[in-house]
Amino acid sequence: MISSSRRPYRIGLAANRAHQDATDSALVRLLQGASSAIELLKPHFVVVGRTLDAIQGHGLLADYQGLERFPYGRDGGLMRLVSRVVDSDPLRELDAIIYLIDPVDPSSNFPEALALKRQCVIHGKPFLSTLAGAREWFELEAIATGAAPDPALDPIFDLGQESIALIAHDAMKERMLALVEQHFAVLDQFAMRCATGTTGGLINELAQKIKGREAGRNWVKPFLSGPLGGDAQIAELILDRQCRRVLFLEDPHVARQHEADIQLLERAARTVGDYASCSADSRGVERWLSLIGQRAGLADKHLV
Ligand code: PGA
Repeated sequence: MISSSRRPYRIGLAANRAHQDATDSALVRLLQGASSAIELLKPHFVVVGRTLDAIQGHGLLADYQGLERFPYGRDGGLMRLVSRVVDSDPLRELDAIIYLIDPVDPSSNFPEALALKRQCVIHGKPFLSTLAGAREWFELEAIATGAAPDPALDPIFDLGQESIALIAHDAMKERMLALVEQHFAVLDQFAMRCATGTTGGLINELAQKIKGREAGRNWVKPFLSGPLGGDAQIAELILDRQCRRVLFLEDPHVARQHEADIQLLERAARTVGDYASCSADSRGVERWLSLIGQRAGLADKHLV
């Protein structure tokens, strides 16, 4: 269980090239935008070679104590991050990965990149592949320690203006229902909830029990079932910037015929990475759900 008294986070950090060099690159925007949270949480960063070169080239994290250099990607830096995600030695283990992915960079589909995400899902560690997701993670972790919220982020926590997508593979559907039930009040605040077909049907049954038959009937908007194209329909909403967050409880142990659709959905979030995020590990989703309500309450106070 994570608490403010836990040891500092150990975070693996990498970015595809397109997110490194410009003065307004995702890497720069993340480190500048989250600088107060970084100062507060003091994470130990394990940074893949060229990403660290870029950070230093921008003059960021100068004199920061918690920086560890990993080899360049071509020398196995990303592969080593995968091994550290699954390591249980507290001096080697990584608690989260930030890998700012450019969806048209072929290296984002190398085996080590896919395995990095998969092992994060298996080991219940956040895999943050977009600027928006990583920025939000720092904000929520900072307020979990009692820090003041960053007012620049208030609009994205105005849940009455936001949409969210809920998707679960078959083995994870019960977990999704349990999480929705436990965090119903905060999910209820969103302007719109959507889901793939089967997940959505199950969630609406639950919503009917909680809100009554009529009010719960269309609590989530069900699209087609994932294997029949529902993932692609939700991806279009993301590309249109109509849905910022996707909670996608994946079962990493089963090969699926519609793997391409699942990857398409994640790719959509990375295509608009300054806007959208997609979370796939159930522990991270649970923590997000428990913190988002707290942060939304703080946003309300500022917006009135
Ligand atoms: P489903 O789709 O909710 O229709 O089962 C989920 C998925 O994408 O596999």
